[in-house]
Amino acid sequence: MSGKADWATKDYYKELGVSKDATTDEIKKAYRRLARANHPDSNPGDTAKHEKFKSVAEAYDVIGEPAKRTEYDEIRSAPRFPTGGDGGFDVSDLFGQRGAGGGGFGDMFGDLFGGGRPRQARPQRGADVESSATISFEDAMDGVTISLRLTSDAPCPSCSGTGGKPGTKPHICMVCEGAGMVASTAGGAFTLNETCPACGGRQLVYDDPCPTCHGSGRGRSARSIQARIPGGVKDGQKIRLRGKGAPGENGGPAGDLFVHVKVTAHRLFGRKGDHLTLDVPVGFDEAALGADIKVPTLKHGPVTLKIPAGTPNGRTFRVRGKGAKKADGTNGDLLVTVEVQVPAVLDEAAREAVKAYREAMADKPLRSKLFEEA
Ligand SMILES: [Zn+2]
Ligand SMILES: [Zn+2]
Repeated sequence: MSGKADWATKDYYKELGVSKDATTDEIKKAYRRLARANHPDSNPGDTAKHEKFKSVAEAYDVIGEPAKRTEYDEIRSAPRFPTGGDGGFDVSDLFGQRGAGGGGFGDMFGDLFGGGRPRQARPQRGADVESSATISFEDAMDGVTISLRLTSDAPCPSCSGTGGKPGTKPHICMVCEGAGMVASTAGGAFTLNETCPACGGRQLVYDDPCPTCHGSGRGRSARSIQARIPGGVKDGQKIRLRGKGAPGENGGPAGDLFVHVKVTAHRLFGRKGDHLTLDVPVGFDEAALGADIKVPTLKHGPVTLKIPAGTPNGRTFRVRGKGAKKADGTNGDLLVTVEVQVPAVLDEAAREAVKAYREAMADKPLRSKLFEEA
């Protein structure tokens, strides 16, 4: 015979093939029938039947005695549900897939669900989670720590995913006898198992559904996490943050979080890979004669750029190390493209100067080449 330590893990009702609400008389009848059928004297050499005989005797020893039965029922019907809060991510948490700790619901009901799927606690990696974030151009350069709010399917917080009215006790689903699956009525040549329609595969049923989730057991959970976006991130890039996804089960590692990063445009600067780009207006005189011009950088204050004499419109100059941060910690460059400006309005002095220039260039017509072959 076994002690009370076994009670939580043994289903004596199932052993005797009776319902939890069976009368003492029904239990006695069931025991007698099973004891007779499995008695060692009538089954010599059949060890399976010997074992069954022992276990039905053990079961009857407990639930056949009203005082012991009451105590047994109390142990069995008082599962310590996880209280939620930090939010598991899978209802299966509730049904005994959580390995560490022990003593939870799963341990209590371990045998209850016997015969179905194996219920061993296997470490399982948490799911990968996707999210998106929009950050400023400057933050994309330096890197930034952002707060992300992630929502995911989680057990209903009111009933911890059981679907039952809080405070009420479940009983084993009588339709599937606690297996969660029933043979399909679709039939034909094959027997198919389908989720039990009465308990939805949950194996237990409640008389009153949870008022929050209306019996579905499902809820949404939200959590906030801090995520570090590394400097140099580009618009449209997906950042992988290891271990920031859904938590693992049974000591398995957490999944990863993928953050789809959008970077807002800057008023002046553009991005080209690890380089920054900047369009700078220059005067015709500066392009023609050459000039030292001051250009802004994003982070390092203005720098002086030498425009050589005879610089054509659209030429790009490179200012080293003033670009975006690269993965290796160094910086890309700032690419400065000159835009030669034509003044819309000239004052008198400027007009005279430009006229003088025209006269000086009279013998070097710009378009002569166009007509050489015509
Ligand atoms: Zn069922
Ligand atoms: Zn609920």
